[in-house]
This record gives sequence, structure tokens and C-alpha cells, in this order.
Amino acid sequence: MAYTIIDCYTDEPAGLGVPPYLGTYSRYITGYLDEDVNYLTIDDLRLWKKFNGIIHETKKSQKTDITTYNLSANHKNVNEILQKTDTLIVVLGVHVPGKYLSAIPGTLHEIIPMISGLKCKKILTGPAVFGTQLFGGKFHEKADLSVFDKVSYEMFNFLYKDVKEYSVKGASIIKQIPDIRMIEIETGHGCDIGKCSFCTEPIKNKVEFREKEDVLNEVIEFYKLGARYFRLGKQTCFYTLSYAVSLLEEIHSHCPDIKVLHIDNVNPVKVVMDKKNDFAITKAIVKYCTSGNIAAFGVESFDLEVVKANTLNTSPQVAYEAIKILNKFGAERGPDGMPKFLPGINIIFGLRNETKKTHEENMKWLSRVYDEGLMLRRINIRQVAIFEGTSLFDEGKDKFLRKNKKFYWKWRNEIRQKIDWPMLQRVVPSGTVLTNCYAEIYDGNTTFCRQFGTYPLIVGVKGRLPLKQFYDLEITGHMLRSITGKVVVEREVEVKN
Ligand code: SF4
Repeated sequence: MAYTIIDCYTDEPAGLGVPPYLGTYSRYITGYLDEDVNYLTIDDLRLWKKFNGIIHETKKSQKTDITTYNLSANHKNVNEILQKTDTLIVVLGVHVPGKYLSAIPGTLHEIIPMISGLKCKKILTGPAVFGTQLFGGKFHEKADLSVFDKVSYEMFNFLYKDVKEYSVKGASIIKQIPDIRMIEIETGHGCDIGKCSFCTEPIKNKVEFREKEDVLNEVIEFYKLGARYFRLGKQTCFYTLSYAVSLLEEIHSHCPDIKVLHIDNVNPVKVVMDKKNDFAITKAIVKYCTSGNIAAFGVESFDLEVVKANTLNTSPQVAYEAIKILNKFGAERGPDGMPKFLPGINIIFGLRNETKKTHEENMKWLSRVYDEGLMLRRINIRQVAIFEGTSLFDEGKDKFLRKNKKFYWKWRNEIRQKIDWPMLQRVVPSGTVLTNCYAEIYDGNTTFCRQFGTYPLIVGVKGRLPLKQFYDLEITGHMLRSITGKVVVEREVEVKN
């Protein structure tokens, strides 16, 4: 049986699989099938369909074509592979739409015509089974799924006792990916709070955690295969993990040359509760993870009315306490030039009971954080995407989105101008050197570079630097959400997966 996976990339509240991240779905499925599995990306298919498989040089006036940037090692043989395929598995689904510097996730409307003529069995899996949407402020994409023989999330939603084996076997998929990937590691799923009105995580999964040894073995397997960039990101709250401290210690001792070890989602309530253990988890993260690390706090709103109406997980006061704790332990600058460990804040527009006061409350709390000299690494603002099965879909839907849409540009802009911009100057003052920034794309005569990591800063550098190389960049200026820099050291590519 010849199997092929087409990775159209995934982005969920807990778990990122958009390049340069490699998500878990394709990896686990490969391990489960336990045969030679062909791995293709949606970029491979675009290149094949649009350009007959031929890579075109970007002209000096052009932006890098990010629709065909993330090619697998199989991109020259797409047609041949598809013709020989018996079963095609499409992994797709964006639930938390974002902007991606060097990738564009595939949509159902895009992939369906690409595969409809193929004779093989076709399966759709991933978050798209519950709906997908590339843009915030909209309902999920509607598409005719009859081209698929099976549409199933459950089919590949393995029990953790099986993930133990599949995750290690499936790590081999990295051999089919020529570029560096940040490996998204899963530690658990489901949410022990599980009530936020917009969230699909409680619908997809019940609360469960992987065994520590299983997580560790997967990281070690990837490490043996050459991977050096990891994020313990596929979970709803890293602090909820009972073995968080010892896992970090052991990864550190088994994988001494790891380049990046970051985390993602954190519930601010758990950061404050860690006081009982003398902040052991925060201290371990600062000690064993690499710098530039961020705990993404899903605050969503600092307006208590909105918090209550949408049963959000944290009150503004608790979020503020957690921001202070992380700053106390993590604000020191690390070897890569970034502060070691800072909070990031997620804010959502369009939730139930949102009013003009909501923006005032957001500004009040964010200004307080800034005025007290604290740091936030980033504020992520998005309009809610509405999915069936959530309580927002059942009650409220897009009522508040429609009502307040006219204010969103102004609200967002005020946060960007009054908080983000001065905050960025505090987090990375001019003259700071950020090491190992990877040149990703061109836009005209500018090269955009980033460190590998969780929500890394984008640095614009004048000129067209050779892409996919590392540079140490001195920061020369600040835009609203990105920075400018100049090269101080050019490095060879040290590691490829
Ligand atoms: S805390 Fe809320 S947003 Fe986060 S995973 Fe749980 S239900 Fe979803």
C-alpha cells in the first residue's frame, strides 16, 4: 500500500504546524502507518500545478513567493508520487488564524481541485474536520467535501499509549524535509478549564497528558536525527504538567547541543499558583530553556464583563500578577540577545459583551504594565473566528464582531502605537545584538530574518542577504511590531535536519 501525506499545515489554540514549525499530525500518522510514507507539502503541489515543478528565482523587485517556499525533498516527483499513491491523507486546518512570514496554509478550496482527479482513496484529517478559516472575523470555510472518501479527526486522534510508539517512529519524516524545522512537541491535550466561549480545544479532546518518558524519547529521537529546535508547545498550559520541571532538566541533560528549547501556552492562574512551590516551574524554564522564550497568556480580554460573559480563564488582576512574576525571574537578557523568558498576551476582538469599555480596560491594564517598567514580549490581537460546537457559535455568534468591527482598526492601532512600540524599544533597545537570525524572505531590497523560536521578532535588514543562512544582527530601529537591523556576523548554516 502506498501512502502519501499532504501537509497543508495546521494552527490551533494548542499546537502549531505552519513552517518553519513541523506539527504533530503528519509525524504521528507516519509512525502509525509504519511503512514508507511519502510526505508532500501544499507548497509542493502549488509548485507542481502552477510552475510545473520548476523553482523560479525571485527578481530583485519581487517578494519571495511564500506559497512555494516550503518544499519537501519530494517536490520534483509530485506527479509520480501521486499517481502511485493508493491512499492520500490530507492534513489541514487553521483555527487561530495568524500572519505567517514564510508560509501560507492550504485551504479546502485550494486543495480539493488539486486532488479531485486522482484515483486513490482520499482522507481529510486535522483540525479542518471541525472547520478551518485562514482569516479572523469570519465563520469557518464552507466546502463540498464529497471528494474525500473519509473525513475523520478520530481516525488519527491516537491514544497517548499509542502515540508513545508512533511519535518516535514518525520522527523519520524529518528526513523528507530539507530545511530546518522547529519541532512542535505535544505534552497534553484538552483543557482543565475548558470553558472559553470561542475555543475548539475542549470539543476536540478530553484532558490528558503524555507520560514524561514518552515526550523525552520523542525529543531524543529527533535530536538523534539532527533536529536542534524544539518547542514544547502542543498543550493548553505548560504549567499544568506535573513533570514540567524534571522534563526540562532531562531534555537539557540528554540533548546538550539543543539550539532552541521554548514553550508556548500558559494559563496565568497556574503561574501565580506556582508560588506554593517557590516558583519552581518558572525558575526551571529560565534555567533550562533557551532565551527569547515566551509564555503565551490567553488573556483574551482585560474587561471583566467580557471575561465573565465568555467564561475566560483569567481575571485581569491575575494576569497582571503573572506578568510580574515572569518579569521578576525572566527579564534578564540571555545569550541570544533576547530577555530569557517573558509573557506574551493574546487579545481577541469580537467576544460576547464587548463594548467600547473593553478597549478602555485593555488599555488601562496594558498601560499599567508598561508604566511599571514591566516587559511583554508581544501582544497578539486577532478577531475571533467562529466555529460550530463552541458556545459562541450557539449564543452570540458574530453579533459583537459586526457591532464593533468599525472600531477594531482604531483599537488595534492604539495598542500598537501606545504600548507595542515603546515596549519593543524596552525589550530590544537599539544596539542589542540578536544572534543566529535566519534569513527567510525578501521583500524588494529588504531581507526579513528571524531567530528560531516561539513568536520570534522579525528583523528587516537592508539588501538581499543569501537566504537560509544565519546572521547576528545589531538592532538599529523599531517599527510597531518589528525591528530593523544590520549584519554584524554572518554564519555558516550549522545544522540541517
Ligand atoms: S483556557 Fe480557554 S482558550 Fe485555553 S484551551 Fe482552555 S478553553 Fe481553550
